Amino acid sequence: MTDAVRVEAPGVKYGADYIEADYTYQNTSVHRDAKGTYVATPTHTKYTFRTQKKVPRLGLMLVGLGGNNGSTVTATILANRSITQASTVCLGNGPEGEVYVPLKSLLPMVDPDDIVIDGWDISSLNLADAVERARVLDYNLQVQLRPYLEGVRPRPSVYFPEFIAANQADRADNVLTGSKQELLNTIRCDIRDFKENSGVDKVVVLWTANTERFSEVIPELNGTADNILASIKRNEAEVSPSTLFAVASILEGVTYINGSPQNTFVPGVIDLAHKRRVFIAGDDFKSGQTKLKSVLVDFLVSAGIKPRSIVSYNHLGNNDGKNLNAPHTFRSKEISKSNVVDDMVDSNQILYPDGRRPDHCVVIKYVPHVGDSKRAMDEYSSEIMMGGTNTLVIHNTCEDSLLASPLIIDLVILGELFERIQYKTEAEPTFQNFNSILSILNYLCKAPLVPHGTPVVNSLFRQRSCIENVLRACIGLAPLNHMLLEHKLA
Ligand code: NAD
Repeated sequence: MTDAVRVEAPGVKYGADYIEADYTYQNTSVHRDAKGTYVATPTHTKYTFRTQKKVPRLGLMLVGLGGNNGSTVTATILANRSITQASTVCLGNGPEGEVYVPLKSLLPMVDPDDIVIDGWDISSLNLADAVERARVLDYNLQVQLRPYLEGVRPRPSVYFPEFIAANQADRADNVLTGSKQELLNTIRCDIRDFKENSGVDKVVVLWTANTERFSEVIPELNGTADNILASIKRNEAEVSPSTLFAVASILEGVTYINGSPQNTFVPGVIDLAHKRRVFIAGDDFKSGQTKLKSVLVDFLVSAGIKPRSIVSYNHLGNNDGKNLNAPHTFRSKEISKSNVVDDMVDSNQILYPDGRRPDHCVVIKYVPHVGDSKRAMDEYSSEIMMGGTNTLVIHNTCEDSLLASPLIIDLVILGELFERIQYKTEAEPTFQNFNSILSILNYLCKAPLVPHGTPVVNSLFRQRSCIENVLRACIGLAPLNHMLLEHKLA
């Protein structure tokens, strides 16, 4: 038995090279009439989705290869629990009820076992020593993996000390020198070198290096594609290492994903990605506390319970925690963690008629003793009926890097898949790519990047159903609606 899925429908064709599926997108357009009544009109848009079937041999270049996430994901690429690998979706109804299949069987996806990893780090440690330094994996596993990891050394990287905490200086023994233009050229050469010498067909670059401070956003400096490229030529101090990596990847036509909170994607980088039609996605992995928050607040608000204050304390003892100990890098994380309840709060004007959002406070402390085992403690204080108060207190302990590593795998596998999916409409009959800002990956991101002027969705279930339903659309299946109408009628 395989878990393969094949759709039989007149509008769905499995050709030699492509899966093509006709799909009608049903939506609802709403306006208010003169009397203030909401008038809702169903809309129907016809699309054809086309997915290239050939799965490439994929190379993944990690910025921060020798870090806790970088070394853990490299070491555990075989064993993982991620949505693409360990999660199932309901395909439909069979004779014995609902049929669940692995999410990865809906469309041809890269197998994580086949991903070839490379990358950069400002620390020169080989990956076997990096795994030991991280103290994430079981000691016996570290010993077994040593022969495979010892020979892997990160490429030298870009180090501008003012963008990360001063306490990182002692690990920066593997750094490139030169002007920003020269550094950009070196990263571009590294990407090409990896592609040529590893035999991969395609490369994705993902930032899992230290959290940087925010860059200043100034139109003349980084407001447009031309300005950011000119600023790099002029060696402007405010161009961050992560922005250099993003620009290099875009110029190489390579998808770039940002797993940290900083504003790598200044307007000029976004403009460049649009102009070059290259995918970018981010920001900041949505792993533990925020993931739970985007479930709990959704549940509370949709149940008519009004969160008034949300207070989150974290302590962790890994190098990420050490770097976040500096106020300017902590500020990036604080911003990233702060906006995650906004869309859910804004969705309920009965509970929040004046739009005043709950008090929301985030604290992060560095406690070396706990290592990678991050502790997150949250208090949710909510108003219930008749002036009552509901208080939820959550204590969450988990190895940080074992939460982030599967997200890296998902981001890369889904990012690659969307490079192979195109769509056309009746009005625009040539196939085109999705928007360069790959917001479909937002399920995996704490501070979701979306195209300008489009809604930000933080609610975890809505984000997950978006992925499921878009994948279903690509094989001509209607979205999951959970109505189970067939079991509810007489
Ligand atoms: P880490 O400190 O262990 O690893 C980061 C690595 O990046 C280090 O090896 C460091 O030497 C390297 N580095 C720093 N600047 C670099 C540069 N310019 N170029 C190349 N390498 C550079 O941290 P981690 O625990 O692996 O986390 C990585 C990032 O992921 C952090 O920014 C963290 O905030 C973010 N993140 C982690 C989680 C999680 O659950 N672990 C969740 C969300 C976001």
